[in-house]
Amino acid sequence: MAELITHYIGGRFVESARRFPNISPVDGAVVGEVCEAGAGEVDLAVQAARAALQGEWGRCGPVERSDWLRRLADGIERRFDAFVEAEVRDTGRTVRQARTLDVPRAIANFRFFADLVRQAHTECFETVTADGGRALNYVVRKPLGVVVAISPWNLPVLLFSWKVAPALALGNAVVAKPSEETPSSAFLLAQVAHDIGFPAGAFNVLQGFGGQSAGQAMISHPDIDAVTFTGASATGAHIMKTVADAVKDVSFELGGKNAAIVFEDADFDAAVDGVVKSSFTNSGQVCLCSERVLVQRPIFDRFVAALKARTEALVLGRPDDPAADIGPMISRKHQAKVLSYFQLAREEGATVVTGGETPVFGDARDQGFWVRPTVWTGLPDDARCLREEIFGPVCHVAPFDTEDEAVARANDSDYGLATAIWTRDLSRAHRVSPRMRSGLVWVNTWYLRDLRTPFGGVRRSGIGREGGRHSLDFYSEITNICVKI
Ligand code: NAD
Repeated sequence: MAELITHYIGGRFVESARRFPNISPVDGAVVGEVCEAGAGEVDLAVQAARAALQGEWGRCGPVERSDWLRRLADGIERRFDAFVEAEVRDTGRTVRQARTLDVPRAIANFRFFADLVRQAHTECFETVTADGGRALNYVVRKPLGVVVAISPWNLPVLLFSWKVAPALALGNAVVAKPSEETPSSAFLLAQVAHDIGFPAGAFNVLQGFGGQSAGQAMISHPDIDAVTFTGASATGAHIMKTVADAVKDVSFELGGKNAAIVFEDADFDAAVDGVVKSSFTNSGQVCLCSERVLVQRPIFDRFVAALKARTEALVLGRPDDPAADIGPMISRKHQAKVLSYFQLAREEGATVVTGGETPVFGDARDQGFWVRPTVWTGLPDDARCLREEIFGPVCHVAPFDTEDEAVARANDSDYGLATAIWTRDLSRAHRVSPRMRSGLVWVNTWYLRDLRTPFGGVRRSGIGREGGRHSLDFYSEITNICVKI
């Protein structure tokens, strides 16, 4: 029988009458039933969170909170296989990816912020005053209060924990919602919290949709203090408008239309390998994926040929197939969106180097939401396919001649999240990287993360940075205290 996925409010698992199906993207089968929260459940969760700040949770200092985060990490580790299964069931990704990326990163997120908050320090200034005396200025850090955390479906437990962990580490009470497409791992995390006796109300999970559902009720609730959101840029803009009148704090990690620049002096095989990864990891459903690849003209034809061969060798397989490289799109709706860009690209004059359609398997996967990894060339820079985020396994490859041209074309985007640069020329790498209008630049690698570093984007890719001390700054309020001595 399909599992019922509920909310977790004030330390209790709470059902609601409204339900929706959890559907496997692999074959379209119903794999579970999910409760949908409305304004009533949201209000209960916000009240529970507010009460937690006044109760046991609010009295915890950084070391106790750090201990709690470590227990959460240990709890995920104990149920590692269940988390892998949850991620795979909801998304159809490979078991290998869930085992090596998603679940380990969730554990690392809790351990990282547990360690960080233990060592966090604040500023202190000794001030000489006009009368020749002295004053001492020092800063104290306090929680923001009730933090709403809303995350997307593409890396469910990784991104959910990326918000929940620092928010809790800094002493906030959290009301969190995973995407309606991926409810299972957040539900499991609530079970872990429950099992270890996490202070009631400090961590609440609501299930449901965004607009006209749980998400909208969460961001509209008058008693929340901040919203941390990862998702589409249009949703970020809507959240910003909703919280503007009450001037709530926001941190936004939004969409991308990322460029990869391959210079002629790059290590050719490493660059091809890197672009395959940066375009097709998680079937292109990563905000950091490169959808615009710029390759210096002398190696352009060879690069396109090599990329075509590597792309065609990718295995679209069931999650438990050890040979599988990538899985399906998350939903029928998202598959239709990606396929609509495949159609648009043809209308805009693209040459389809490979892919561009749905695969036919001759088994139950034909009821799932698959698309073929796709490579285009020949589009003009102003084509919609090169300006709008597609969020599927697709990239366009264009030739360029000079360094300045590559920089200008890579920066010609409404987005600014991540750029990957491939070159063996050290001076060029250092010269080009700071010129990129993006929050992240990778040189001769892609998606190599150190959790101490700032993560986030510019323009339509987001507001603020998270990671390391940047998360400390967002998830806390500081007060400067000046004492005349
Ligand atoms: P989405 O914006 O549709 O949904 C994200 C979350 O917001 C979901 O939980 C959804 O239910 C909720 N939501 C939707 N409308 C809402 C509303 N009106 N009020 C409150 N909540 C609402 O995005 P998605 O399709 O789930 O995710 C894909 C997008 O996320 C892509 O654009 C991708 O680039 C972006 N993303 C960005 C990062 C980053 O770190 N910058 C990371 C991953 C994904």
